[in-house]
Amino acid sequence: MLIKNFVVGFVNTNCYIVGYERTKEAAVIDPGFNDDEGKKILGGIKNNNLTIRYIINTHAHTDHTSGNKILKRETGAEIVIHKNDAPLLPEPWKGFLEMIKLQKITPCPACGSQSVNLKVFENKEKAVLKCNECGFSIDLLASPPADRTLEDGDIIEIGNYKFQVIHTPGHTSGSISLYCKEEKILFSGDTLFAGSIGRTDLPYSSAEEIMYSLKEKLMTLPDNTLVYPGHGDVTTIGKERKTNPYIHI
Ligand SMILES: [Zn+2]
Ligand SMILES: [Zn+2]
Ligand SMILES: [Zn+2]
Repeated sequence: MLIKNFVVGFVNTNCYIVGYERTKEAAVIDPGFNDDEGKKILGGIKNNNLTIRYIINTHAHTDHTSGNKILKRETGAEIVIHKNDAPLLPEPWKGFLEMIKLQKITPCPACGSQSVNLKVFENKEKAVLKCNECGFSIDLLASPPADRTLEDGDIIEIGNYKFQVIHTPGHTSGSISLYCKEEKILFSGDTLFAGSIGRTDLPYSSAEEIMYSLKEKLMTLPDNTLVYPGHGDVTTIGKERKTNPYIHI
């Protein structure tokens, strides 16, 4: 399996190109890149003669989807995402807006402060979330809508490789992991990291759900499964089962 990792965007997101060597068919998982990074990645796709069939978002957070638009325009690939997160693609700021309306906590992604400002641009292309305390600001870029929505158990074929969609809600309601049983490879999005797990203090997060997803779904996979997470280093299921402080079984 061809796997290329690019660390992109404002929070060091792992964007993966996953391909089948013989036919050069490929998918891009979590293109959370800006325009400059996107040009490099598109150049790499062209130089390697890859045909991108799918743009797969492990969930709808903008650090995993901001490159959807340019990538779809340049490759014509289908955008696929779990059905629960699909409605967020064209307006990734929706959760923050709802929380502000309900006067619930709207934490700064950088420092956790509850004092944040959200400005949605009139053309609905993006919103800017700015922290009043630490000054951190992020652009929340809109994505084109999903071409196909996913459910637990669906199969995505990349050349001869079959990836099973495992619905792993918690970090978001529509978070997925992608599992290739033959190759013992898992893309875990923001559900499981090396030594950590995804945040559950964000809109549409659930601490109970992520624990269920981890214990009842991901931790049932073989120990020698290689895990490619949405942020940080590659790990294995066995290592996380033994050493991850957030997972007690
Ligand atoms: Zn996320
Ligand atoms: Zn802050
Ligand atoms: Zn992320």
